Amino acid sequence: MADLPKIKIGWFSFSCCEDNTIVMTEVMNDHWQEWKEMFDFRHARVLKSNNIMDEFDIAFIEGAMASPEHVEKLKDIRNRSKKLVAVGACAIVGMPAGQRNNFTAEQKASIDYLLTRFGALTDVKKVSDVVKVDVEIPGCPMDPKVFLEKVNALVKELRSY
Ligand code: SF4
Repeated sequence: MADLPKIKIGWFSFSCCEDNTIVMTEVMNDHWQEWKEMFDFRHARVLKSNNIMDEFDIAFIEGAMASPEHVEKLKDIRNRSKKLVAVGACAIVGMPAGQRNNFTAEQKASIDYLLTRFGALTDVKKVSDVVKVDVEIPGCPMDPKVFLEKVNALVKELRSY
């Protein structure tokens, strides 16, 4: 394993509570020795301050897209990534982060000034509204067992190229 090139990982959080990030770091507590040999965390702000935005074998996306900047950043990540994984309900179905999409007309009118002030999208988008998603890991937050299974399957697939 140590002789193989490391798999380049990006971990990105958009509009959400970042609980999937916490789950990932909890899983890392048990697997850091093998992950250290296998993964090159190029961009993961929860793990380091010197983040590199070049190319990724696997990009993990948590959270929903709430602004035009989010949409552009997500497209950029997609262009740099072999595999893009949506983690958690906010990324996969846009909820609960996008609750304002279901507001009544009156409720929407009452927050309109905030959308203008913060340059937010009229409607919050899920990841697949913007880019192609290769793998989904559902849950709010995601299930650590499923996360590990999907990560291991991706490693196997990338190693077989
Ligand atoms: S899916 Fe749930 S746990 Fe994950 S970021 Fe959204 S609100 Fe938080």
